[in-house]
Amino acid sequence: MFRAFYRELCETAVHHVQKQQADTEIASRLPTLVEESFSLRLTHINGEEEDASMMHMRLMSMLKSKWAAIQSNRTCLGCLARAPENSLPCGHSVCDLCVRIFATEKPQQPWTFSLSQCLLCRRSIQATFRLKPPTAGVRILSVDGGGIRGIVSLQWLLELESRLDLSNSLSDYFDFALGTSSGKYSQPCLA
Ligand SMILES: [Zn+2]
Ligand SMILES: [Zn+2]
Repeated sequence: MFRAFYRELCETAVHHVQKQQADTEIASRLPTLVEESFSLRLTHINGEEEDASMMHMRLMSMLKSKWAAIQSNRTCLGCLARAPENSLPCGHSVCDLCVRIFATEKPQQPWTFSLSQCLLCRRSIQATFRLKPPTAGVRILSVDGGGIRGIVSLQWLLELESRLDLSNSLSDYFDFALGTSSGKYSQPCLA
């Protein structure tokens, strides 16, 4: 698997390093070292000593002292594969998929995850993420204005919330809310 998917990428990366540094004996051996490490870790996973996510978390933890100086708002450093949509109080950012894998889903609150430690620097944090399920579209609440008539929209929304007897606020069912003129005052009233 390593040879099919990663060996060539690894050699390309080493080639770039070798162009910048004259003596790179370790760099030339790097693809082989990575392949050996890859095989060893695959053996651990196949032996069910730990699953892939636990192993990934453990490896990230080994570098926790280095993560404080490495931050990116363009690449999720948890997987190096996606853009990070979620910012953490420590300054790191992670993608939705890393949240789903490494954070804990709250009971009775589907698609709401909590994280008590940064995946990278391991600082204690209190972060909650409300993710959108992959099958859900973007839910937009748009409210017209009209001066005093804006009260009609607001009353209608409050009545809707009351009659549906929802467990959460009606505002929890929208991803984005906007309003023109007095309609914009409906958004905070629903929060
Ligand atoms: Zn990620
Ligand atoms: Zn962090």
